[in-house]
Amino acid sequence: MTSTTAKSYDAIVIGSGPNGLGAAIELARNGKSVIVYEAADTVGGGMRSAELTLPGFVHDHCSTVQALCLASPLFSSLPLSDYGMELVHPEIPVAHPLDDGSAVLLHRSVEQTAEQLGRDGGHYRNIFELMTRHWSKLSPQLLSSPLAFPKHPLLMAGFGMKAMKSARAFVEQNFLTTAAKALFAGCAAHSVLPMEWMGSAAYGLVLMTAAHAGGWPVAKGGSQKLADALAAHLRTLGGTIELGRHIRSLDELPAAKVILCDVAPRNLATIAGSRLPPAYVKKLMHYAHGPGAFKIDYALSQPVPWKCADVGRAGTIHLGGTFDDIADAEQFPWDGRCAPRPYVLAVQASRFDPTRAPEGKQTFWAYAHVPHGSTADVTERIEAQLERFAPGFRDCVLARKVTTAADFAAWNPNLIGGDIAGGASTFWQTFARPVLSRNPYRTPAKGLYLCSASTPPGGGVHGMCGYHAARAALREF
Ligand SMILES: Cc1cc2nc3c(=O)[nH]c(=O)nc-3n(C[C@H](O)[C@H](O)[C@H](O)COP(=O)(O)OP(=O)(O)OC[C@H]3O[C@@H](n4cnc5c(N)ncnc54)[C@H](O)[C@@H]3O)c2cc1C
Repeated sequence: MTSTTAKSYDAIVIGSGPNGLGAAIELARNGKSVIVYEAADTVGGGMRSAELTLPGFVHDHCSTVQALCLASPLFSSLPLSDYGMELVHPEIPVAHPLDDGSAVLLHRSVEQTAEQLGRDGGHYRNIFELMTRHWSKLSPQLLSSPLAFPKHPLLMAGFGMKAMKSARAFVEQNFLTTAAKALFAGCAAHSVLPMEWMGSAAYGLVLMTAAHAGGWPVAKGGSQKLADALAAHLRTLGGTIELGRHIRSLDELPAAKVILCDVAPRNLATIAGSRLPPAYVKKLMHYAHGPGAFKIDYALSQPVPWKCADVGRAGTIHLGGTFDDIADAEQFPWDGRCAPRPYVLAVQASRFDPTRAPEGKQTFWAYAHVPHGSTADVTERIEAQLERFAPGFRDCVLARKVTTAADFAAWNPNLIGGDIAGGASTFWQTFARPVLSRNPYRTPAKGLYLCSASTPPGGGVHGMCGYHAARAALREF
């Protein structure tokens, strides 16, 4: 029993991921006394960084690309730079190398991107110029609950018409060239959905528009700097954070008017015990989690020797080849198998943020989607894809740290089966997250809220699940 257990608070938050900290900050800046209990010894959940390979090499355990942090109405309202948080922009947000030795580049500029796409250039311009121009109105809407009445209904209807389809249907309707189709597939595959599933197109559209409108920056010094800045701001507002406290039952907690849980739905069911009605518990237990991630963090002796030199100018690289190659690869984990030639998502943050590695050296990470809960080691397959587009990659490796999907689940209880998105991003679970409700944050137990990425608007570092849950909880005061 710790010293904080005896006190009482207006609000308790379980978990210090971006959503837990986001919720706590919103409550504290509205004058509520708040304590955050975090199971790990470090604050931040999916924003943690550490020297995972060799001394002096800073790696992000999970998130590196802070495109959604930049778009977040909550995080952009906070004075995070006062606490040492600085976003660094890669020259080009995304590169997608192809087998002929070329690469399609997703530039900040719509025009520059369109220019590479030949016959698809005009159509690309039409789609993304409009979305980029309206991004400041669209993004807050996309980061709210899909069941909330939109502030800009016509804009949202226009977006919905484009987005509410599969990535395959989207490219078939809009693009002719291999380059444009491949670029879209690489971004749509962030959904962790098969390319034939409804809703996968939305990820491509949102992430590409975010790149054009604001870029895909990284936090200087590692994502931990973002976590630390959020934690420091919370403390300035009077909030308390207790690390190393894994909450296994609500009965362990001191008195509080509201409790917000930055946890997975099935873990909420366990923690809350009999306070939740069986019908609701059943829904939480049936909430679907998607495939897991298998990730390799590398310490490299030099920058990656990309076949196409332009790829070195990008922060994020999508490896997998054509639209069809990526679509084939993304189906495998849903069928319970590891893809022989996986779609690989890679980030070379230290190219643009040298503070992450000793002079002249680099950090680099790459991950692939694997079956839910998989213990498989797919290092060989990922490195074959890296060698395909960067011959000689293996010769640059000083050290590697491998994390299987099962390892992720053991490291953070929110990553059920290694699912990095807080639940499958299926069409149904876009709306029913974790249950179909106008207020999905509120549970049937009085004062008990869910605020993790398993609520709208879902996965990513934006803190908006926490913000919306906190706004709902504030109505109880
Ligand atoms: C490999 C990987 C790469 C990613 N890359 C990106 C990226 O580049 N950009 C991006 O935007 N997103 C990325 N993400 C996704 C992003 O990290 C998550 O969507 C985000 O962190 C979810 O935030 P959260 O607050 O809901 O949960 P989390 O960040 O998972 O935080 C939950 C916290 O709650 C704690 N907790 C859970 N249960 C308890 C309990 N019972 N008691 C006490 N504490 C508890 C956990 O220890 C954890 O610290 C990535 C994720 C992974 C795994």
